[in-house]
Amino acid sequence: MTARPQIKGWCPGALRPMAAEDGLVVRIRPWGSEMNCKQALALADLAARFANGTLELTSRANVQLRGVDPVHLAKLQAELEAQGWLDASPEVETRRNIILSPLRNGQFDGPKLARDLARALAAADAPRLPAKFGFVLDTGSQRLFSGVSGDIRLEPSDCGMMLRAQGVRTGCSIQSEAEAVARILDLAHWFVQSGGIGPDGRGRMKEFVKSNSLPQDLQGTLKPLQNRPAVVGALGDGQLVGLRYGVITSDALRRLATQFDWIRITPFRALYLPAGNLPDEASFLTDPADPFLRVRACTGAPGCLQAHGITRGLADTIVSAFPSQGLLHISGCTKGCAHPAPAAWTLVARDGAYDLVTGGNPWDDPVVRGVPAADIPNLMRDL
Ligand code: SF4
Repeated sequence: MTARPQIKGWCPGALRPMAAEDGLVVRIRPWGSEMNCKQALALADLAARFANGTLELTSRANVQLRGVDPVHLAKLQAELEAQGWLDASPEVETRRNIILSPLRNGQFDGPKLARDLARALAAADAPRLPAKFGFVLDTGSQRLFSGVSGDIRLEPSDCGMMLRAQGVRTGCSIQSEAEAVARILDLAHWFVQSGGIGPDGRGRMKEFVKSNSLPQDLQGTLKPLQNRPAVVGALGDGQLVGLRYGVITSDALRRLATQFDWIRITPFRALYLPAGNLPDEASFLTDPADPFLRVRACTGAPGCLQAHGITRGLADTIVSAFPSQGLLHISGCTKGCAHPAPAAWTLVARDGAYDLVTGGNPWDDPVVRGVPAADIPNLMRDL
């Protein structure tokens, strides 16, 4: 197996950005995974003034700016504060790791629940959770997030909403938003107090419940509804619009903001928008058969310090040679940020050339090594 680069164990935030080759990465956590049109216009403006003119959606339904000059960070943070996007401290920001369904047609008021949970997690007596510990509020009438990582999950079942620990197949019934917040905190406290956090400060629910039983009152027999695949197109009262590599330019965001009242961020590197015509924009993926929907590519070179080669530029040139089914992941190194999971084909940059892993992770043993970028189209045609 190939060595996997060191995982930092924390994600960048707006108060604690991460350094990259092209400047700081500043990650913003919009409340309720939603921006109104004024906020979206402001964010487009900030991306143009302080970053590289684009915004990236993350798999945690956040938005990040890249290429921020550290000299301008304080001014950028002041403008984010004016939009109400800053938390009280980096610790509170890290704990607000909440993904909310874009659907607003469920039993609970999702935005209120997300806000109440965030407030509870910011309290002085809130559980001190690991940086990657997350909450999934799948509060629409349809379940969307079965493939989205989250340690504590609120999901629809045949008998109303249910609470489930990741790694446990069943959960308990939840009757109200207030009960949801209280039980989520109970589960988080149990995780901490029962030793879910290791000496390195890390820990995930899925691993912990393999050898630790939940308290009786947090167990249940409800099963979540079958998941609805996140396919671009009509969904609920709105539409899911994919973004090529999860990236949108500030100009494209501005055009959306002048057309729609709100924009919701999903963990699918796609936006959820009201129904209606979209502005013409090449990066919007609206055809479920678009091959770019089956491509994952991280920032790669030159933006990332750890990259061994380009990623998105390579994907642009080989997408037409790409097989008609299966996921292609192009990773700038073996860390696999864009898709830390198996894919049908994974191209991993190494010293300026590419290794190919089939049916595995970027850090697995490749079946082909050291292919120059110019030869990748032929390699893909032969798959
Ligand atoms: S996977 Fe890509 S973005 Fe992540 S560290 Fe490696 S090169 Fe950088």
